[in-house]
Amino acid sequence: MPTPGLEGYTPPWHKPEHDDLAELARAFFVNEVLPHATRHAQQGHPDRAHYRQAGELGLLGLSVPEAYGGGGGNFGHEAVVLHEQAHTGEGSLGLAVHSGIVTGYLVAYGTEEQKRRWLPGLCTGELIGAIGMTEPGGGSDLQAIRTRATRDGDDYLVTGSKTFITNGYLADVVILAVKTDSSRGAKGMSLLVCEIGDANRGRLLDKIGLHANDTAELFFDEFRVPGKNLLGDEGEGFVAMMRQLPQERLVIGVSAVAAMQRAVELTIAYAKERTAFGKPLIGHQNTRMVLACRSSAATGTPPNTRSPRCTPTRGSRRSTAARTRS
Ligand SMILES: Cc1cc2nc3c(=O)[nH]c(=O)nc-3n(C[C@H](O)[C@H](O)[C@H](O)COP(=O)(O)OP(=O)(O)OC[C@H]3O[C@@H](n4cnc5c(N)ncnc54)[C@H](O)[C@@H]3O)c2cc1C
Repeated sequence: MPTPGLEGYTPPWHKPEHDDLAELARAFFVNEVLPHATRHAQQGHPDRAHYRQAGELGLLGLSVPEAYGGGGGNFGHEAVVLHEQAHTGEGSLGLAVHSGIVTGYLVAYGTEEQKRRWLPGLCTGELIGAIGMTEPGGGSDLQAIRTRATRDGDDYLVTGSKTFITNGYLADVVILAVKTDSSRGAKGMSLLVCEIGDANRGRLLDKIGLHANDTAELFFDEFRVPGKNLLGDEGEGFVAMMRQLPQERLVIGVSAVAAMQRAVELTIAYAKERTAFGKPLIGHQNTRMVLACRSSAATGTPPNTRSPRCTPTRGSRRSTAARTRS
C-alpha cells in the first residue's frame, strides 16, 4: 500500500527478506484483529483467540529457536511484527511484552526444562506471557519492590502485589520480580516464573489511552511456586532485568516510531482531502511546511533548516544536541 506523503519510506533496519513477514503481519492486524477494535476497547482487553491465531500464522516467538517451537529468527523479525502492529493502529494484543520481552527472558535464562515447558505454548499462543516488576510502591526504583518469596521446602511462597501489568488479565505465565532476601537490596532480587490463575488477578486498569490493551493488577498471598520455577540464579534477578531492559526500550522505540509515521501519514491524507478557503489544506503553504517538518521527524531525515518555519520542537532540539555530542 503506498504511503501518502511518505512514499517509498521503510525503516532503515527493514530488509527485503522482511517483506513477506511484514505483509503477513499487516494482513493479520488489519483483517483479523482491527475489526474487533471497538469491542476490545469496551472490554479492556483483546480476545485470547487472537493470540492463538497469531501463533498459527507464525507471528509469535519469531526470535525463539525452532527447537522450542519458535521462528528461529532474531530480534529484527520481532521488530517487523511490532512495527506493523503499531503502524496499523492495532493496540490490543500485548505482543511487545509476550514476544518482545517474556520469551527473551526464557531463552536467555531458562533451563532446558523451563524452555521446553513454556516456550512452545507461548509460540502457539496457547499461553500468554507477562512480566511483573512494577508495584504500587516501586516503578522506576525497581530495588524498592516489596513482593517477597520465602522458601517453604522445595517451593517458594510469594506474597505481594504488582500493578500496571501488561497482559495481566489474560496471562497464564508471569515472570515475577521478587525479593528472596530483603536484607541484600538489588542482590536479594530474583525472578520466578508464576503460573497464575484468576485468584491472582485484580482490576483491569482504566487508562487514558490504549483502551483495548490489557493492563491489570496482580496479587499474591502466600502463593505457592515450585522452586524449579526460579529463572536464573537466586539473587541474580536485578542483573537479569538490567540486561533485558535495553531490548524492552528498543521494543517501545520501534512501536513509537511506527505510530508516529502513521500519524503523519493520516494527517497528510486528511490535509489532501479537507478543503478550507477554497482549496485543500495541503494547498496552503504553511500546512505543507509544517507537514514536511513532521515527515522529516517521523522518518529520521534531517529537517529543512533553511525554512524559518521548520523550527525543531524542544524534544528534537535536545536529540540533535545529543547526537552532536556522541
Ligand atoms: C500502559 C503501561 C503498561 C505497563 N506494563 C508494565 C508491565 O508489563 N510490567 C511492569 O512491570 N510494569 C509495567 N508498567 C509500569 C512501568 O514500567 C512503570 O510505570 C515505570 O517503570 C515507571 O514507574 P512508576 O509508574 O511507578 O513511576 P515512578 O517511578 O513513581 O515515577 C514517577 C515520576 O518520577 C520520576 N522519577 C523517577 N525516578 C526519578 C529519579 N531518580 N529522579 C527524578 N525523577 C524520577 C519519573 O520520571 C516519573 O515522572 C506499565 C506502565 C504502563 C503505563
